[in-house]
Amino acid sequence: MEITEIKSFLSINKVKNLDVFFDYETRNLSTFRLKGKCPIFIIANSVDALFYLLSFLERYKINYYIIGRGSNTLIGSCGNIIMIKLGKMFDYIEFEDSHIIAGASCNLGRFVIRCAKNKYDFSFLAGIPGTIGGAVSGNCGTQIESLCDYVESIECLKVIKNKIIKEKIRLKSHNYGYRFLNIDNLVVITKVFLKKERADKELIYINIRENILKKKTNQPLGTFNCGCFFKNPLTSRKTAGELIDNLGLKGFSYGGAVISTKHANFIENGGKATPDDIHNLSKIVAGLVSEKYKIKLEHEVKLVGFEN
Ligand SMILES: Cc1cc2nc3c(=O)[nH]c(=O)nc-3n(C[C@H](O)[C@H](O)[C@H](O)COP(=O)(O)OP(=O)(O)OC[C@H]3O[C@@H](n4cnc5c(N)ncnc54)[C@H](O)[C@@H]3O)c2cc1C
Repeated sequence: MEITEIKSFLSINKVKNLDVFFDYETRNLSTFRLKGKCPIFIIANSVDALFYLLSFLERYKINYYIIGRGSNTLIGSCGNIIMIKLGKMFDYIEFEDSHIIAGASCNLGRFVIRCAKNKYDFSFLAGIPGTIGGAVSGNCGTQIESLCDYVESIECLKVIKNKIIKEKIRLKSHNYGYRFLNIDNLVVITKVFLKKERADKELIYINIRENILKKKTNQPLGTFNCGCFFKNPLTSRKTAGELIDNLGLKGFSYGGAVISTKHANFIENGGKATPDDIHNLSKIVAGLVSEKYKIKLEHEVKLVGFEN
């Protein structure tokens, strides 16, 4: 099915709890804030609507991409890609007995504060932008602690032979690792169940303040970026940032894309960058690191709408 046919189908068949936008400005979908358009952007506000939408897209083999806050996603050319976001109905957090239950579009910052109020210490996530769905999907965290260590199970939609199914999955340790979640056929996380020992509330607030201060000192929080562009290589004692910094690349630019002068693993949109500027700069950096250190840097940022 062509994009124009999908547009007319969605215009005629209005579905409850699906907000549909045509020719949407992708600048609003990622913290890189790069100019661009996607043909169709849809906000889903119930599991049923999401189920209906994904079943339709799978049946007609239409490309789509799930986006959270876009704080870890570089969006390129979305010619025939439909962008889908979980809306306000998925933005909640509840506390039951010793469990924390969060909707997938729950804001990470609010999650940290609500957990602190209930004596759960997720201060290691303080200052990290995003949604719980995006954070679980990339096992977000620090070099010491990661979110999936505290995830008991997820409710999600999976695709098997072009059919969408709902499932609740208990996370096992082999399902996740350093900045990845690996669940066969996973399409979208809708709800997350977490468990953690309670801690002293005042201590949690101190940790939150300290971690935010640390981030403000070491990272360019006020610029347009998507956090660390590359994962830290497992084969080196140096972080990706240290390897890039050692090559003297802080401040190096390509088109409108710049290596942060504060943290060498952050690529910034200096204001007028295109998605290709960011992508090309990342390729130059990875090439130089490979040439000098024989280390292949792997993207931490997810790419959508690029050929390679
Ligand atoms: C200034 C800054 C600092 C950062 N610091 C850190 C840090 O310290 N540690 C760290 O780990 N990250 C960091 N990040 C990266 C980012 O904030 C996290 O990875 C965050 O968890 C991404 O969440 P998101 O909702 O923005 O994901 P998105 O960028 O929207 O999506 C990321 C991936 O998750 C998938 N996804 C999103 N929602 C869902 C869902 N509901 N179900 C299934 N898949 C989904 C997307 O398809 C995509 O593959 C930083 C980013 C910035 C801008």
